[in-house]
Amino acid sequence: MSCRASVFHGLLAFLLPVAGLAAPAAPAFQLPTANAALFEKGGEERFFVGTVGKPWTSGTFGCVRSEGWQVHEGLDIRCRQRDKKNEPTDPVAATADGTVAYFNAKPSLSNYGRYVILRHLVDGWEIYSLYAHLSEIRADLKPGLAVKSGETIATMGRSTNTREGISKDRAHVHFELDLLINDRFATWYQKTLPGQRNDHGLWNGQNLVGLDPRLILLEQHAQGAKFKLLQHLGHQTELCRVTVRATNFPWLKRYPQLIQPNPRATQEGIAGYEIALNFNGLPFVLIPRAASELKGKAKVQLLSVNEAEQKKNPGRRLVTQRNGRWELTTRGQNALDLLSF
Ligand SMILES: [Zn+2]
Repeated sequence: MSCRASVFHGLLAFLLPVAGLAAPAAPAFQLPTANAALFEKGGEERFFVGTVGKPWTSGTFGCVRSEGWQVHEGLDIRCRQRDKKNEPTDPVAATADGTVAYFNAKPSLSNYGRYVILRHLVDGWEIYSLYAHLSEIRADLKPGLAVKSGETIATMGRSTNTREGISKDRAHVHFELDLLINDRFATWYQKTLPGQRNDHGLWNGQNLVGLDPRLILLEQHAQGAKFKLLQHLGHQTELCRVTVRATNFPWLKRYPQLIQPNPRATQEGIAGYEIALNFNGLPFVLIPRAASELKGKAKVQLLSVNEAEQKKNPGRRLVTQRNGRWELTTRGQNALDLLSF
């Protein structure tokens, strides 16, 4: 016992000074406005805006609305600057170096109102940031334009096409960090929802899967240069595991870091993928499978459900229990169909 303890203390004495030597580097992601209360102890009330009559937690990311049955895909960050008419005027800045991917200047076309999407490469990862409810988008922004981290791209506002609108006291920027699901979205949408309008092409909300920006910003704040996006993504809690009989879909090429090796599939040929999804439908582990490893004939097969996670975060409604058996909902089927299309 005492021997072990002394070895442990020896290790600690060795590790601690080394940890202290880590050189500070520029963070991968910056806050999109001057509101930095996220990093202050007890600052949540000054950082997040809740929905009408609800606490600040309803302005955070996740299953935070309708008793957990509705997902809020981003952070609602409180306004800090106002003009004489009490309208928000906070400059909204790029969270990281990137290029303009898309913007919507017609508030009537989206519940996001006026919004901008930027494309970034962080640790080799293609990741997108979205800024919504803007009053004004910088006039020279156009797809492909390069922007620097911290560069102003827009002004905070209250634009949205929802009937209830956004009141002056709830003025905020809605901020997302997303991964793009499928480059063939427009074709999939036409096939799956014939006749329905898709005003935003690839940049339809259904084609973006959100990460929790709060967790990323806080982890990065605590870890400094040691923060790695891939490590963060690996820490997702699994909601369910499925197999898909598809071998060539864009996610595999866009995010190959998520694929785990399987010698049997390499040897026999890949017939499909086993995929772990988090509560939000984010595919964060993909394992190639040989035909001999796949069960059943269905294109998509549900293998398992983490019931505790489904109970905690049910908002995406990907799985449901029928007669004591778990199955994918239509939404779950659709999500996997789009992923593997
Ligand atoms: Zn929001």
